[in-house]
Amino acid sequence: MSGVIRVYSKFIVNQLFRDYYASKNLDVISPSMMNKREFGFLSFDNVMIRHKSFLNKNELFNFLREFVPADAYYSCAYYENPQANMDAKGWLGADLIFDIDADHIPTPCGKTHDEWTCIGCGFSGKGITPEKCPVCGKAKFETKTWPCEVCLETAKKEATKLLDMLIQDFGLSDKEIQVFFSGHRGYHVHVESQAIRALDSVSRKEIVDYVSGLGFDVAFYGLYKGKSKKHFHSTFLNISGWRKRLVSGLLNFIFNAKAEDFKKLGIKANIGQSIFSNKDLILKTLSEKGELGLIKNVGVKTWKKIVEHIVKVQSAKIDTVVTTDIHRLIRLPGTLNSKTGLKKVGFPLSAMDDFDPFKHGIAFRKGALRVFVFSAPAFRIGSEVFGPYINQRVELPTAAAVFLVCKDRAKVVE
Ligand SMILES: [Zn+2]
Ligand SMILES: [Zn+2]
Repeated sequence: MSGVIRVYSKFIVNQLFRDYYASKNLDVISPSMMNKREFGFLSFDNVMIRHKSFLNKNELFNFLREFVPADAYYSCAYYENPQANMDAKGWLGADLIFDIDADHIPTPCGKTHDEWTCIGCGFSGKGITPEKCPVCGKAKFETKTWPCEVCLETAKKEATKLLDMLIQDFGLSDKEIQVFFSGHRGYHVHVESQAIRALDSVSRKEIVDYVSGLGFDVAFYGLYKGKSKKHFHSTFLNISGWRKRLVSGLLNFIFNAKAEDFKKLGIKANIGQSIFSNKDLILKTLSEKGELGLIKNVGVKTWKKIVEHIVKVQSAKIDTVVTTDIHRLIRLPGTLNSKTGLKKVGFPLSAMDDFDPFKHGIAFRKGALRVFVFSAPAFRIGSEVFGPYINQRVELPTAAAVFLVCKDRAKVVE
């Protein structure tokens, strides 16, 4: 929850959250083996309560109704004593969690709606927040981000690539995988499977490296300068895993490439031209023999640049820290996200294309609120588009008003 949310606005949002949790058909999903999980809650006064545990759904629901958290979390881990301190909990295993968030995915619009300011020295910039301040080196920032529709669509595409890898390459079944909209700027993928439960951080890092294409060595695929007459003998035809992803990515790239696309990858104009004018031959040898073929003056270095670009395109951009943390607390499905007033909501893998975060994530469907909007870009809630607004008083449907208030773009007026 935004620290600067106005007192009266906070009071109103708190009331709305209270009503939401009081609802008879509250759609909060209690995790499997819930009595082995740790729960954590952020209060409306910004106090984090951890090491809670509940024996059953009723206990959890009663707590939600009484406490009315701004945010609610549970552990991906299972513990013998979930309510004990960290070192006495007795770790039994953990689900595998992926967080795909616009915070980590470069989009063209990110530069227009996301800003960061270094708390150390005040230096600021637009777009993705850097890991360290380029001026003073500190790693603490104040950020102002926007849950933008284009960014969320991009995040969904990343989630789709990830799901494909989990099912095709790791052999997980869709029954072991759940997908959720986080309620803010991304998607969560939860994997619950006996096969992964006991994996330690290091093993989970291996999975992270695989899906994000980290440490990818093109020589492993035959892309190196050998002694033979051919510059290289690429072996891309084993049609599974990354080989398959590379072949389809390469076919797609070469087929659609324009001369300037090669230039963008740092390939000289005459070499780009050679590829461009031999498109048909390249596509034929690649799809039939799994080889990149021998085009005059197009050598290993050039193909390496192209393949590395394909790896970037085909990999899934996930938050690596979340997946490797075997004690991580994650947002509880069905609870509200205090950054937006939208809820974390799941959907079947088969409904991925039709899922609409700004429709299916709506929690408040009744009434309206009068707000003063400081500034907000145009946004959509349900089928209605609102704004852009700048310093103006408007009456909005509750979900739209709460959205702006939670993002600290507006205050409720009495
Ligand atoms: Zn700084
Ligand atoms: Zn965007």
